[in-house]
This record gives sequence, structure tokens and C-alpha cells, in this order.
Amino acid sequence: MDNHQPTKPSRRKFLYNLGLAGLSLPLISSESNCSTKTKSNAQAMIDKNNKAGKLGIALVGLGGYASGQLAPALQQTENCYLAGIVTGTPSKIPVWKEKYGVPDKNIYNYNNYDSIKDNPDIDVIYIVLPNNMHAEYTIRGFAAGKHVICEKPMAITVAESETMLAAANKAGKLLSIGYRLHYDPFNLEMIRLVKEKIYGEVKSIDTAFSITPPKGAWRLNKKIAGGGPLMDVGIYCMQAVCYVLGTEPLATTTKTYPVSDKEKFIDIEETLDIEMEMPGGIIGKCRTSYSENQSYLQVNCENGWFRLEPAYFYGGLKFSSSDGRKFEIPPFSQQAKQLDAMAVSIKNKQVSKTPGEMGFRDMKIIEAIYKSMNTGRRVELK
Ligand code: NAD
Repeated sequence: MDNHQPTKPSRRKFLYNLGLAGLSLPLISSESNCSTKTKSNAQAMIDKNNKAGKLGIALVGLGGYASGQLAPALQQTENCYLAGIVTGTPSKIPVWKEKYGVPDKNIYNYNNYDSIKDNPDIDVIYIVLPNNMHAEYTIRGFAAGKHVICEKPMAITVAESETMLAAANKAGKLLSIGYRLHYDPFNLEMIRLVKEKIYGEVKSIDTAFSITPPKGAWRLNKKIAGGGPLMDVGIYCMQAVCYVLGTEPLATTTKTYPVSDKEKFIDIEETLDIEMEMPGGIIGKCRTSYSENQSYLQVNCENGWFRLEPAYFYGGLKFSSSDGRKFEIPPFSQQAKQLDAMAVSIKNKQVSKTPGEMGFRDMKIIEAIYKSMNTGRRVELK
């Protein structure tokens, strides 16, 4: 849902899909009439990937992001592969089996999820559930002795994210947050330009990410989402201010506005203007809304500016700058880059670039932003 802009299928992706179609398994109408050939093909897929030293990933929650982005990305990754699925919707199973050859023994539901601990094919559990389920399924994943990748936002409260970190430590396993843009070459170029002071010292950052979810979406339900656009897309803006500068905010002053539709925005904010006070007197201005469509990140420096627009979509990111500098690269999958990098860090027993601790930090920033929104005051972060 974060992308909200269908990306044009690249030629490479198209050819890749053709390749997949060539490999696709016989059509099956239900789990019970799965043919022996399908079973052996599925096992052969697992054996081949295990032999290649790839980590087996199980996706938990087969909604828009898992099915539209992560599963296709896992067909391109070199260090990990789609080994299993966890779903509460049995009707999705035949589709996933046919498309990705997931064997029956690696398919779980939310009741038997914990028995994943006995499955050696699954090394990593990837939580792609609504926000209020992240903590529970992450903690159960660690109890099952697996590494966990959890989607953003890490949780819906600071307290929850603390329990997730504690579970990771207790299990001695790694927790990463699905902050895909830390692995995206366009956003990495923004970081490089700042780090190398190509345009001199940074003066300010101006960024926005806004989308328009339909009425009834769980994203509009505070109990499930934990908040409004800040939890879903504003988090990218505050993240960008932090990763572009390589620092953390000292304080925030956040303003909200009366909602335009009281039935749609019952207990969440519709729009926020967030000011993040960063070290060195730099102000990061973030706007996020559920009634606008925006995706940009601009860094203003002593000697010019540079910008991504769109900045936060899955693809089609566009760089521009005050001096006409170019940054263009062939199409790629952000998710494949993220997943491969995380798999390598797990294999090397090292924390990833986006560890649970970063998610925890961000939950503290989010709570400060909401505190400022609710009190109308500047809130310091300690
Ligand atoms: P979605 O609504 O499309 O999918 C959610 C899945 O959870 C569905 O398969 C649904 O059946 C399942 N589910 C299980 N219990 C549920 C319940 N009680 N209520 C609702 N759904 C339930 O959502 P999504 O867009 O795939 O988002 C899932 C998570 O991934 C969210 O945390 C979101 O923030 C994150 N996400 C991240 C990115 C990214 O770019 N990193 C993009 C999109 C979503």
C-alpha cells in the first residue's frame, strides 16, 4: 500500500515472469488434490535452494505487500528464497502453491504457526501483517527459534517494540525492520551527496509522503494501525531525515488540522506538519496526509539543492538537482536488494542496516510527534 503508484513492469521483470510461467506447476484446485508431480517439484525447489545455501523465508500475511512485492522479489534474490507461507485465508493457498511451488509441509495458519519451529526449511520469518499484529507474531517467531524481519512500523507503541527486542535477545536471533529505502540506490545517492558534502553543508530538508486510502481500510483504524498517515507513510519522511543526515532528532514540533471527513478520520490524524530539529540547527520538515498524493525528498544545501520525486515509491524514482546532475540506473527491485542484504547479514551473524533497534528508535520519535500533536508543544527527544 505504501507505493500507491503501480510501477511499470520492466522488460527484465517481464522476461523473468515469462521464465516463471515456463516453470509454473500444474494447475491445482485445492490442497487435497495436489499431484505427486507438484509435490516432488515443490520439494525439488526447496532442495535446490537449500543446496545453493539460500536462506528459507516464510511470509506471514499474504496481503498486498507480500503478494505484490515481496514474493516476486524472492524469485530474484540470490541469498534467500520463498520457502513457506503463513495465512489465515485457505483460498490463497492453491494460488501460492501454483505460482511459487511452496510445498504443503511449509504452509501454516495462525493456529499452527508456532510449529514452524520444527521446520528446518524456514530460517527467517517475515511479518507482513497489519501493524497491531507485528509484536505478537515477531515474538512468536523468535520463540520458534527463527530470525525475524518485521514490516514497518515495527509496532504500535514503544513498549511493544521493547518486548520485541527482548524476545530477539532472549532467542539470540536477529531482528530487522523492512525499511526498504536503506537498500535503494536513489536514496543511497542522497545519503552520499550529503556525506561527501557535494553541495556543501545541509541547511534544511523538505519531504512529504501522502496517500489516500479508501474508507474502511485498516490503515484508518487506530486500534489496528496505531495511528494515521504518520504510522504508514509519514514514517518514511522522518526516516529519510535521519538517514540522509546520519543523525537523530533532538526535538519535534508537530501540527495537525481539523479533519475533513469525520466518518473517515474517526480517531486518527488526517494531516500532519512535522518539524524535526536535527543536530547542527538543521530542520527537517515532513508533511504526511491521507488526503493528498505526494512523495518527495529535497535536501537544501549551502551550494544548491537535490531532490527525489517520487522519493518513496517502489520504482520510478527520479533525481533532480540545482545544477542538473543526473542519477539514472536500470530498473531493479528494492525488495530484492533489501532481502538479499538482510540474508547476507543473517548468514554472517551480523545485524542488518535496519535492525530492530532502529525500529525502536523510530517508535520513540513517533510517540514524541504524537505528543507534540496532542499538546501543541515542542517535545524533546532524549
Ligand atoms: P494488506 O491489508 O494488504 O495485508 C494484510 C494481510 O494481513 C492480509 O493478508 C490479511 O488477510 C492479513 N490479516 C490477518 N489478520 C488480519 C486482521 N485482523 N485484519 C486485517 N488483516 C489481517 O496490508 P499490506 O499493505 O500488505 O501491509 C501489511 C504490513 O506491511 C503493514 O504493516 C504495512 O505497514 C507494511 N507495508 C510495508 C510496505 C513497505 O514498502 N515496506 C508496503 C506496504 C505495506
